[in-house]
Amino acid sequence: MEKLALGIDIGGTNIAFGIGDIYGKIIYENSIPTKTFDKFEDLCSTIFNEPNITCNINNIIGIGIGAPNGNHFTGEIQFAPNLPWKGVIKAKQIFESIFSKKTILTNDANAAAEGEKLFGAAKNFKNFVEITLGTGLGSGIYIDDKIVYGANGIAGEFGHIRIVPNGRHCNCKRNGCLESYASSTGIVKSFYELDHPTKNKSLLNNLKEITAKEIFNHAQIHKDEFSTYIIDYTAEVLGSALADFACFSDPEAYILFGGIAQSGQYFSEKVKFHLEKNLLNIYKDKIQVLTSQLHDKNAAILGNIASVFKLNLS
Ligand SMILES: [Zn+2]
Repeated sequence: MEKLALGIDIGGTNIAFGIGDIYGKIIYENSIPTKTFDKFEDLCSTIFNEPNITCNINNIIGIGIGAPNGNHFTGEIQFAPNLPWKGVIKAKQIFESIFSKKTILTNDANAAAEGEKLFGAAKNFKNFVEITLGTGLGSGIYIDDKIVYGANGIAGEFGHIRIVPNGRHCNCKRNGCLESYASSTGIVKSFYELDHPTKNKSLLNNLKEITAKEIFNHAQIHKDEFSTYIIDYTAEVLGSALADFACFSDPEAYILFGGIAQSGQYFSEKVKFHLEKNLLNIYKDKIQVLTSQLHDKNAAILGNIASVFKLNLS
């Protein structure tokens, strides 16, 4: 019997789900707007009743759910500000009772790290940190071949390590956090806040809306000087922070995941340069900076599928 896993990525806008095998092949996938479901139970039964899920149900060995504020230990989604269901949602318990399948809940950065380890760029690493660069910055930390959860299941909030004293205001209500600089929102903030002799003549000024993607495109494709300056600044802040984080877990690699990382080596090489420049001597020339190999629309589902196979194999 072919073993399959159901991976579900719960986001503020969409819920993506799919089934795949241990080689990372996705057999079926779909996505539904999150606001469709008044109750979390409705989401669970809708997926359960999808014909493409139903016909594979006997082959599904488990369910992996990635959610913001997902607590791995309790299996609950706790007070997620961007989800329509308020309070504490017993996600694992609800899925296990409807599907009668073992269910694992984790946050999106840990799921990305599991996906990278099983299907992507981290196959050969026992110590690495997955850095997810999206609206915010998250991290999934692997040490000695195990993901780190910490005492309460919430380890790895690298995005909220404060790197600039009294720096930019962060959504966590504190100041100077890494994600206020190295994330898509941070990059847009840099456009407004940074000053440079080339700012006035930048092609970015012609745009109706400034996005991180446009800034990357203008730096990479149009060689716009101010855009390049912003990307260099972002890489410097991130590379320098990653240099300090190396002291904590002595990683073999940092793997950059998410929208910003999609420019590939263009960005990862800049980050690597600033990482090396700032590293403590004993860590120099030992840490790779790589781009995720899960870069497609399935990445989030794949990470949650990987969590299931990881659980089953260990
Ligand atoms: Zn913060």
